Amino acid sequence: MSTFDEERSAIAMACRRLAEAGLVIGTAGNVSVRIDDRVAITATGARFEELTATDVSIVDLDGDHVWGELQPTSELDLHLGIYRRFGSTAVVHTHSPVATAVGLVVDELPCVHYQMLLLGGAVRVAPYATFGTPELATAVAAALEGRSAALMANHGAVTHAGSLQAAVDQALLLEWACTLYWRAASMGSPRHLSAAEQEQVVVQATARHYGSTRPARTEENR
Ligand SMILES: [Zn+2]
Repeated sequence: MSTFDEERSAIAMACRRLAEAGLVIGTAGNVSVRIDDRVAITATGARFEELTATDVSIVDLDGDHVWGELQPTSELDLHLGIYRRFGSTAVVHTHSPVATAVGLVVDELPCVHYQMLLLGGAVRVAPYATFGTPELATAVAAALEGRSAALMANHGAVTHAGSLQAAVDQALLLEWACTLYWRAASMGSPRHLSAAEQEQVVVQATARHYGSTRPARTEENR
């Protein structure tokens, strides 16, 4: 049986990166990757800054234990609910400080910067429910509809994507966007991008392959 060594190592590396970036302090977050009908997920109580591949367990899509000595995170249902609903490949959940703060005061983080289109635009805040409950998992999945990120009231933030790196990048982007909003809101009323402006960003990003590197234009390929 595969124990998904590569995926577990990648998760451990992602957790350490999130800790280094200040998005997770101690055990306050969890990361998972889906491989077909299996999910590699961080164990409950694992400290992110020193997390290793042995702190990652394997479950099936019903949450039943497949491999690993440690019990999966108490937010297992949150992760599984996202995989079942959206077919994503990776989920990152943090209690990152600014995203959590913003989720205390708004019902939705408005689209205040065009890079937020990478998250799907405005980011909804899922209503509060006790951690580890099916109610929380349901509320967060609903807030993620059509989005790759959501804030969780009085709790934290979550992102999901087609790869682990993308989910981590989006968690970092979300924290950046929340920081931007917080700073702007402390000076005045932040301007939002209109629906038409957001649409134009998508058109332009598609035309210019925004976010990926390309060879420089030379005499030969001009
Ligand atoms: Zn949490």
